[in-house]
Amino acid sequence: MGFNILTLCYLIASVTFILGLKMLSNPATARRGNLLAAFGMGIAILGTIFLYTSHDTGEHLGNYPWIFGGLLIGGIIGTLAAKKVKMTAMPEMVSMFNGMGGACAALISVVEFGHLSKEITDGVVTAASVQPTVLIIVLGLIIGSVSFAGSMIAWGKLNGKVSDFSFTGQNILNLVILAVALTAGAYLVYDPTQSVLLYVILGLSLVYGILFVMPIGGADMPVVISLLNSFTGVAAACGGFLYDNKVMLTGGILVGAAGTLLTILMCKAMNRSLLNVLIGSFGGSKTAVAGASSDMGQIKEISLSDAAMVMSYANKVMIVPGYGLAVAQAQHVCHELEKILEEKGVEVKYAIHPVAGRMPGHMNVLLAEADVPYEKLLEMEDANDEFKTCDVVLILGANDVVNPAAKNDPASPIYGMPILEVELAKTVIVNKRSMKPGYAGIENALFFQPKTSMLFGDAKKVLQDLCAEVKAI
Ligand code: NDP
Repeated sequence: MGFNILTLCYLIASVTFILGLKMLSNPATARRGNLLAAFGMGIAILGTIFLYTSHDTGEHLGNYPWIFGGLLIGGIIGTLAAKKVKMTAMPEMVSMFNGMGGACAALISVVEFGHLSKEITDGVVTAASVQPTVLIIVLGLIIGSVSFAGSMIAWGKLNGKVSDFSFTGQNILNLVILAVALTAGAYLVYDPTQSVLLYVILGLSLVYGILFVMPIGGADMPVVISLLNSFTGVAAACGGFLYDNKVMLTGGILVGAAGTLLTILMCKAMNRSLLNVLIGSFGGSKTAVAGASSDMGQIKEISLSDAAMVMSYANKVMIVPGYGLAVAQAQHVCHELEKILEEKGVEVKYAIHPVAGRMPGHMNVLLAEADVPYEKLLEMEDANDEFKTCDVVLILGANDVVNPAAKNDPASPIYGMPILEVELAKTVIVNKRSMKPGYAGIENALFFQPKTSMLFGDAKKVLQDLCAEVKAI
């Protein structure tokens, strides 16, 4: 009876994961999708704790103080971390949590191999009969350890604790380490009594995870994290195979597939191959700094009062949010400005580039947090159709996603990336703090165009001042 109810729990959980993922693809349903999937995960966890019975002994899991002690500590840390985290530090937290998932998968392999070894020594099973299980154990160990070590380095890079590090021949050394780990793994599958190999594989996989992420530019970490996330999914699916646990298998495969798709989408949106991200050293710690004048010409500044005037008398204003808006946490005051302008009869919309910010959907989440209505958010294609009908485009801390070099400079690292074609509007106002480049480390010719005016300052402060100015008109 217990087993059947447990199977039902797993089925319900699997369905909630799939529905939850689907709902995550739309900002209007994302929150509920997340809650639904979390609810499903709760059912799967509680079902396993209370209903699972061992095939051999018929006993329940037991060890309740340990299990609930762990759940309590992990739950408290997770809740506090999620509540405290700033939107801009979200990729960092995802990286840390993902690393923990990889570590769990690797630990499962270590623990289960210990059980198998004991059974082989006690003569309960033969070495030959456990080879398929050892294959899954080895796969889970390699993938989980790489994901753990790589995610920790990604976490360190994102919060500035780890800097880029590479040396000549590093890619070759990485391949050699991986090849040795795989060969050791193959030998352990062939002869499961060679227990020491398990630790050799563990060590090599950890070193590979570190060396693999070390040379990748800090700015490419979101793509790397998404890739490592898919690794963790696959490693968890290996755990599902080991325990013959359907929900763990489904969950792992869903995470693996979703992570892979996200990685592909992010690469596509930046018009780069995954290989280029992994070994291209793009946007790392480049510090190309453009002055107020450069080969591209002279920039023109606009005062706060002039900017407020231009917007107040416009029919339609399109706001282009970017990474700087997120850093400044200016989403609420941005919504405020939108409301003030609308009270004056100005139509206000937002143009959302798929990779604006530092993670997919960054701008949607940010603006949703400030209660900006979803229907005001235009996807790139729709926004590009509407720019020609806009009197003013207000760019808030965005740079690469509006850089025309992506369209007209084949030598540019971002050439081919689809961009928001803001120059189609009558006037462009760009808010940023200086002439420093964005993520890709390159200058932006848009800032030097005759219809563009620069409005320097921190996005939050500038928006607060703009609100006051527009109100006063
Ligand atoms: P960018 O990184 O190109 O530019 C952000 C700009 O914001 C900077 O030029 C900076 O200029 C300005 N800025 C920083 N802080 C503030 C502040 N407090 N107030 C006002 N402005 C500020 O951002 P975009 O959003 O245009 O582009 C995102 C980039 O990130 C793309 O190249 C994309 O490929 C990449 N990327 C995105 C991922 C995603 O999933 N979204 C994943 C991986 C990469 P200044 O210092 O002068 O103020």
